Amino acid sequence: METSSWRNSTSIYIHTKTMSLTSANTEQFENSNKKYATTIITDAEKKLSIPPAKKYVIITCMDARIDPAKAFGVTLGDAHIIRNAGGSARDALRSLIISQQLLGTEQVIVVKHTKCGMLAFTNEDLFEKLGVQSQTEEKTLPCDFLPFKDLNKAVKEDIEFLKAHKFVKSDAVSGYIYDVESGRSEKVV
Ligand SMILES: [Zn+2]
Repeated sequence: METSSWRNSTSIYIHTKTMSLTSANTEQFENSNKKYATTIITDAEKKLSIPPAKKYVIITCMDARIDPAKAFGVTLGDAHIIRNAGGSARDALRSLIISQQLLGTEQVIVVKHTKCGMLAFTNEDLFEKLGVQSQTEEKTLPCDFLPFKDLNKAVKEDIEFLKAHKFVKSDAVSGYIYDVESGRSEKVV
């Protein structure tokens, strides 16, 4: 009985906390955007064309500790940045083909990073959390969440994947590891 009421009050607490966090995030989003549109974005930036001016793509992780614009010097209008869990080239394929074939990009830089969440789980772990055996049981799920155990190897495999793909322009592809603690990137391939 006691455990159950403790659980109930905890869940209400978490729910309330989540609700206020959610509205705080929305408020920050709306206020920041209002400021951006009225005082920050320049007239030249408003006239940028769709194809990235410097014809390159960065594929990197969705990790909240990476700011590609600041860390890699990406200026508005210069590059496509494709983000997903782990900075996976496979996961990025749909966007990459659109970027290269329809919007003229020619160079790809893959950036994975230290302390990535993708190093910390297996497909089996996640299927278990979702309460299914595997994708065969639930067709709406991807069959592979693309976790990895070895960061260096994962970068090399992504570069090999891009080079081997017949629809990817891969004359200029390179791979890096970004250190989230030092802010430095090191070239792998
Ligand atoms: Zn990551």
